[in-house]
Amino acid sequence: MIPLIDLAAQYRSIKSDIDQAVLRVLASTQYTLGDEVTAFEGEFAAYCGAQHAIAVNSGTSALHLALLAAGVGPGTEVITVSMTFVATVAAILYTGATPVLIDVDPRTGTLDPGLIEAAITPRTRAILPVHLHGQTAEMDAICEIARAHGLLVIEDAAQAQGAAYHGARAGSLGDIACFSFYPSKNLGACGEAGAIVTSDSALADTVRMLRDWGQAGRYNHVLQGYNYRMEGIQGAVLRVKLPHLDRWNDARRQHAAAYDARLGAAGLDIPQEAPGRHHVYYVYAVRVAERDAVREHLLKAGISTGVHYPVPVHRQPAYADAVRVVGALPVTERFAAQTLSLPLYPELSGDQRERVCEALLEVCVGQPA
Ligand SMILES: *Cc1c(COP(=O)(O)O)cnc(C)c1O
Repeated sequence: MIPLIDLAAQYRSIKSDIDQAVLRVLASTQYTLGDEVTAFEGEFAAYCGAQHAIAVNSGTSALHLALLAAGVGPGTEVITVSMTFVATVAAILYTGATPVLIDVDPRTGTLDPGLIEAAITPRTRAILPVHLHGQTAEMDAICEIARAHGLLVIEDAAQAQGAAYHGARAGSLGDIACFSFYPSKNLGACGEAGAIVTSDSALADTVRMLRDWGQAGRYNHVLQGYNYRMEGIQGAVLRVKLPHLDRWNDARRQHAAAYDARLGAAGLDIPQEAPGRHHVYYVYAVRVAERDAVREHLLKAGISTGVHYPVPVHRQPAYADAVRVVGALPVTERFAAQTLSLPLYPELSGDQRERVCEALLEVCVGQPA
């Protein structure tokens, strides 16, 4: 079976370093925050080209705290997309604000800047673009509109560790950025983890307090905060993995280029890397009609696939009535209906990749897109 991702292959490749890092934390007894987490924060901020990173216990927590620090709360609105993992929208609702959902660009699946202005109201506080599948949103256009209207830009960079936009890394492209280190992400912990990245010291200070019970010094609770601290073991594991991230992302890009060549030549609807963007392929998603039949065929050929994401957030039972949708979302609907994620991870072999292409072309060639 060719899996969609293979976490065991990555672990085997760095096993002794990971094991030692975990044991070091066990011996240190710094089980939550601590020196390893602090060191990771400095290393990750530098990697992103930003001043501050604040380590938390998930990407969802990172989104929640970034939104709170940005002044998002009851009576305010945040403009984002429906073509995302549900956490993006859920985090807005955690604050009491209203998620306002707009459509995505048909080439990249990321927030369409041309639709922002029509969604802005006097209550709008922030724009929350999602760097879908490892490709950044069109940040220049988004930041320009945000500046003109006095809005903050919060990056959902959960899928985009190491992605870049005109040479600047995700995490340095808006006012504040949110990362997930869920194990399957390009940089993944051995458990749940996330981080907020920003170069704004005031936002960083607020987030740092909020993740640890709103304390400004021990037992001085100046904000109503949370227990969103990162575990020591996760910080240590992430420090081991961060130096490998660029190499892993390069391997992902090479696999993607090979998929592009084979599948694109056969006329498949392959992912598009927009000019000036460095896509890191958290997900390699083609678009196919008759997706269920294609998945079934691949499964019989021993190939796992995924769908990111089959039902957009505005059509999820728990969220349909909680969000405001601006206009129809035809591109989002088409993505949701047709998107199909192929096996992609750094350790994938050329042979495996070839088997995926053959099986996919067997069933897709001749099908209308
Ligand atoms: C993974 C992900 C999240 C949530 O991160 P967790 O660490 O699982 O809480 C948020 N947004 C997007 C786009 C994601 O892919």
